Amino acid sequence: MTGADVDVAVVGAGPAGLAAAYALARTGRTVRVLEAADAVGGRMRTVRAHGCVIDTGAEMFPSRAGYPATWRLIAALGLDAEPGAVPRVGDALAVWRGGRARPHVGRPLGLLTGAGLPPRARLDLVRLQARLARIGGLDPQRPERARLGARTVADLVRPYHPALRDRLVNPLVGGFFGWDPERSAAAPFAAHLVTAGASHTWHTYRDGMDTLARALARRLDVVTGHPVTRVARRGGGVRLDSPRGAVTARAAVLAVPAPVAARLHDDAAPAVRDYLAECGYAPMLRVSLVLSAPLAPRGAARFATLVPAADDPLLGVVTADHRKHPGRAPAGRGLVSLITSPRGTAELFDEPDDAVAELLTARAERFVPGLGARVEHVLVHRFRHGLPEAAPRALALRAGFAARPAAAVEYAGDWTALRPCSEGAVASGAQAAERVLAHLAGRSAARPTSPTGGA
Ligand SMILES: Cc1cc2nc3c(=O)[nH]c(=O)nc-3n(C[C@H](O)[C@H](O)[C@H](O)COP(=O)(O)OP(=O)(O)OC[C@H]3O[C@@H](n4cnc5c(N)ncnc54)[C@H](O)[C@@H]3O)c2cc1C
Repeated sequence: MTGADVDVAVVGAGPAGLAAAYALARTGRTVRVLEAADAVGGRMRTVRAHGCVIDTGAEMFPSRAGYPATWRLIAALGLDAEPGAVPRVGDALAVWRGGRARPHVGRPLGLLTGAGLPPRARLDLVRLQARLARIGGLDPQRPERARLGARTVADLVRPYHPALRDRLVNPLVGGFFGWDPERSAAAPFAAHLVTAGASHTWHTYRDGMDTLARALARRLDVVTGHPVTRVARRGGGVRLDSPRGAVTARAAVLAVPAPVAARLHDDAAPAVRDYLAECGYAPMLRVSLVLSAPLAPRGAARFATLVPAADDPLLGVVTADHRKHPGRAPAGRGLVSLITSPRGTAELFDEPDDAVAELLTARAERFVPGLGARVEHVLVHRFRHGLPEAAPRALALRAGFAARPAAAVEYAGDWTALRPCSEGAVASGAQAAERVLAHLAGRSAARPTSPTGGA
């Protein structure tokens, strides 16, 4: 397309879109990011209100070994240059059992202390971990290669002690990913578990989880409040329509959840269309409570406490954000989040904010005594497309999607590798950039340069 506004237009200023735009801009291409919301970050956005730093979606991330693409960007932008800017959360994860939070979940120490599991279930956890290590081929960027076939998460844990399912795996996949274990494919879960590593390696950003997005956006041409309504190929390039005006580009990256991408662009290639149609998402619902005191779940909870369905069918996780990092709330006050279980999300997602907050706060009282009396402000965050949830059919179609030739309209996002985390998004951004460069250079495939790559 001659006379295009920019070389590449990127739709969506979440981590995937910003990572793609940054990689493209560094090659000298002109790039514009078009974002519908009034701020960047997507599901990794942070709001600053009532003296608090409130992460609306993503909460934390593991060490370099678990999230290599993220840490490469952190280093490239110098975000970790200042000591304490990317702190460790520490003993981050607990599970509720017998009236209190039990610590050391998801780390080797938990095998000794119990971490809410009876001894037989602890032995079975070791057996499950050994089995996953033996499976091999667990690459979170290519989950379809794992030798787990069409097994679901429920199939994966069925042979083991029921407490492993009820007090660890189901609360984990339900609370953190919003998944239904009977429906979601085992491979993305297993690959995430093995690569993300132990919970004591979790980090956060001192200044909010949107730190990476804000740092990238400062270096890019980003237009917020610009919803894209249609993306069509025109005259060898791409035209992106919006009520704010059309933008033309030689190529585009759709860095939005799969159902949104399918709506924006009617891709003629069957491998793309079929995969997009099968890429499901679990919705997520979170209530942030600003408190007049730094309360937390009873017991040894540091940051996040998983709530098994037997203890509350509607609540999935309770987080004490002021324990994640003291800067999340002013001294002497507190910030607690209540994240619903898949059943809680289904029942409450469309209810009014007041009703959701009132019901969940009342239910959380048994975990955090005195909570209701300390609430000063409430914020409700809803994500219709919360986390990618792959059914076995989506997994089966992924290899065909990954093998598509590079094109004028490319895709990025956590869903492209069915990976329920921001690392999946960042890695997909780098991958999309390589594919766009291949297209602009007249090649059909990206050169395999990134160690975290894989389409
Ligand atoms: C509750 C919750 C907790 C999470 N916790 C963690 C965690 O602790 N650790 C972790 O690693 N990951 C976590 N995640 C996942 C992580 O947030 C996502 O994987 C990541 O944000 C995906 O990035 P993305 O760029 O693919 O999509 P998004 O972050 O969704 O970004 C897409 C962007 O596109 C914009 N957009 C959509 N439609 C249009 C349009 N038509 N025109 C223009 N712009 C548009 C959106 O506004 C958005 O800004 C969590 C997610 C949720 C919901």
